[in-house]
Amino acid sequence: MATASAQLEWVVCPVCEEGRARALFDKQGFTVVGCPNCGLRYVNPRPTADWLAAWYGTQYYQGERANAAGAQHLHFPEMKIATARLRLDLIRPFCATGWLVDVGAGGGFMVEAAQAAGWHAVGLEPSTTAARHAARERQVHMVSGRLEEAPFSSGRFNVVTMLDVLEHVTCPGKCLTQARRLLGPGGILLVETPNMAGWLPRLMGARHPWVRPPEHLTYFTPATLRVLLERAGFCLLRLLTRTSKVLTLDYVLSLTGSTNPVLTAVAQGAVGWWRGLGRAPFKLPLDMLVAVAASNRPEESTR
Ligand SMILES: [Zn+2]
Repeated sequence: MATASAQLEWVVCPVCEEGRARALFDKQGFTVVGCPNCGLRYVNPRPTADWLAAWYGTQYYQGERANAAGAQHLHFPEMKIATARLRLDLIRPFCATGWLVDVGAGGGFMVEAAQAAGWHAVGLEPSTTAARHAARERQVHMVSGRLEEAPFSSGRFNVVTMLDVLEHVTCPGKCLTQARRLLGPGGILLVETPNMAGWLPRLMGARHPWVRPPEHLTYFTPATLRVLLERAGFCLLRLLTRTSKVLTLDYVLSLTGSTNPVLTAVAQGAVGWWRGLGRAPFKLPLDMLVAVAASNRPEESTR
């Protein structure tokens, strides 16, 4: 990972704006700190937004070994669409139809699931590589660009979804404010991000695979996510602290491929020997936070 060249900047706590922070540990050339005020863990100093944009643009989706995680976001459509359906089920009690935008849409799987469920769905994705791939492979409506420059009028959407996005962005609070701008009155936001207060992340600490700078910059807990949502003007409707994803063995083995090639090759051989096993979907409960929130304040004239 080309972290030695990272351009770094010191930042305040992304949740409470506290300037002081305590260094907790280093990983992959970055330091993770803890906020003495709200308890949030985050990378500080943090790579600049420009450096990250270049890093994602040149390496993340190129399928290089060291950055295989990026390439994984574009593949395994059936299981990802199945997970997206589970998330749409959480939105339905609050909003069942209309316009939906998936921010950080990656491979376009949420957009495809939403479209199939009757939504007018569009994906917003900063990586042109991913956006083009999704439009071509999934036949969905994708817009390439960053949220702050998104060509959508205020209040255009009934629902904004952000799956595995908030932990990646440099300013998660600003990201939520911009998401709220896109929502009309009574609009619904669904956010998903790792729950670092889960028992496994707490047990493993820095060794947990979700502690992954510079990809993951902010490490949320139920408390810190709640504060961030409320500061952005959202009213929390539901907060799940452990949620299931639909996975396949083929997918899980592809994730371990870059770190454990020999073990993975042996396991892939065994899975291949029993045909179909690798592709069979199963639900796995994970330490993932899923928040459903309402943008129920009257619309403000934010730009
Ligand atoms: Zn804080």
